[in-house]
Amino acid sequence: MTRSGGAPAGPGPGPEEAHMAISEPFPELDEILASIGEGGRRIATIDAAEGAAGNISVCIGWPIDVRRRFPMTEEIPLPQPAPHLAGMVLIVTGSGRRLRDIAADPAANLGIVRIAEDGTVGTLHTSPRRLFDRLTSEWNSHLAVHDDTVARTGTNIHAVVHAQPPHLTYLSHIPAYRDEAWLSRRLLRWEPETIINLPAGIGALPFMLPGSEALMQANVESLRTHRIVLWSKHGVMSRSDVSVTRAVDRIEYAETAARYEYMDLVNGERAEGLTLDEMRAVVEAFGVATTVV
Ligand SMILES: [Zn+2]
Repeated sequence: MTRSGGAPAGPGPGPEEAHMAISEPFPELDEILASIGEGGRRIATIDAAEGAAGNISVCIGWPIDVRRRFPMTEEIPLPQPAPHLAGMVLIVTGSGRRLRDIAADPAANLGIVRIAEDGTVGTLHTSPRRLFDRLTSEWNSHLAVHDDTVARTGTNIHAVVHAQPPHLTYLSHIPAYRDEAWLSRRLLRWEPETIINLPAGIGALPFMLPGSEALMQANVESLRTHRIVLWSKHGVMSRSDVSVTRAVDRIEYAETAARYEYMDLVNGERAEGLTLDEMRAVVEAFGVATTVV
């Protein structure tokens, strides 16, 4: 690991803690679309988006004109009120679309929702090349996390990614790993970067029905304190108030840690892992605000 060149490894609280919003000049729509496409590719590269699994959304709080690329419009009810997102724009993957295909044609795979001032309905903008009927089946969880985070932090950019990384998901089938403290202690011990990038550890939820109200609510609560949460026997959701790239990074860090943990289980748990003292030394040297060690 290096101390220079990457914001996550720097000392002191990162931009996420400071809840910095993006300031002008704001990114163009095409740049945001490209970042979603690149994020989708990276998620597919780590085998965390088989078939049509996984979904991505980005909430944008600055003026952005989407009508040229997404000229078709329809009014849609929101799955639940999102009062703090009034007037904001959410770019969301379509149901049944493949994350690896977004980069080749973002307009065919993404819908854009402008939330109305009352926060209960939105205008869905789509392209004539649209290849989906509805937005992602996890739309309620995406919307709820955006609304909760914007309410708490006032950020004008927020990315949410759901993926199904196999090692993390496998571990969640072992009951002990559904305990949050155990999960974080076991997974954060394989590389010094992990605790720097996931200082609050990894949240853990029991199995809940995909797309359900219960999952939506528990997920919002866990992502208030964590940057990534494990949905047992299903996958993960991560968030970032910097970029899609950062939200995807979190999934990569957690999945890499889970792969080490899996390797160690298969190998008869012969590895040491970082000791608590070694982890505390990392925390001190990099000024990480953590409750995990
Ligand atoms: Zn899923």
